[in-house]
Amino acid sequence: MIGRAIALGLAIAALVRSSAAAPRCGAAPPADARWFYLGVPGEGRSAVAAQRALRAVLAAFDDVLPREPACLKVEILDDGGLTDRYRRLGRRRPDAAIVGFHNPKLGADGTVFVVPQPGQGLDVVIVHEVLHALSHRFSQEAGRRRLSHLVEGATELLTRSLAAASLGVAKDAFKTGYGPYVRFYDALLSRLGDGGLALLGACYLTRGYDAFEREVDERLGVSLRDAGRALEADDLPRALQRISVRAEPAGASAATPGAGGE
Ligand SMILES: [Zn+2]
Repeated sequence: MIGRAIALGLAIAALVRSSAAAPRCGAAPPADARWFYLGVPGEGRSAVAAQRALRAVLAAFDDVLPREPACLKVEILDDGGLTDRYRRLGRRRPDAAIVGFHNPKLGADGTVFVVPQPGQGLDVVIVHEVLHALSHRFSQEAGRRRLSHLVEGATELLTRSLAAASLGVAKDAFKTGYGPYVRFYDALLSRLGDGGLALLGACYLTRGYDAFEREVDERLGVSLRDAGRALEADDLPRALQRISVRAEPAGASAATPGAGGE
């Protein structure tokens, strides 16, 4: 009798554990899979990094997330595998060495691809790619205007903020190539003042780039799009100047070609 009660207790405990560990994300990964759901990372070497990344994202954005980050798939690759997958998803070879990417293309839109690297926190890499996966509207709207550096800048600024708040990594410890884009957002947010970071977070995750541009232009009397074009040409001084000077009223500069052109 006691034995049966214990067995029953163990069975219930196992059931509770498995339902707590497995949000309803879809089919479980096969035994030989190289991917896992972010919220169910198992026991592998990447599990701790995944748990830390998910906690950091939830701590910052739990109430404004457009989708369940625990159900994003994390696929762990090696360097060759990452480049291979990057190309198969229809892109050229990456411009610089990368340690992760996300592509909103259907079929891959719920997956982030990462490569563990010695000396580089996998938790931080996962946060950066997960943020991309949570901001499809922002990146699509900015992409339509060919402002990919504004997307990378926002992603990296938010990654660094989360890493400083939750992962014990100081903002100035980052060595990624996105430094100038982050400096642009630092300047923009300091001009926006209180609520600037919250506005960026809300637009990045749900309201989209167009709403962000509208609000920035209205609040500061500048043209974020002109600044974004300068940033796209890697001209940080010009981009900074564009957000510190009031834009010409609409119509007054109709004959002037836009900076950077398209
Ligand atoms: Zn990125």
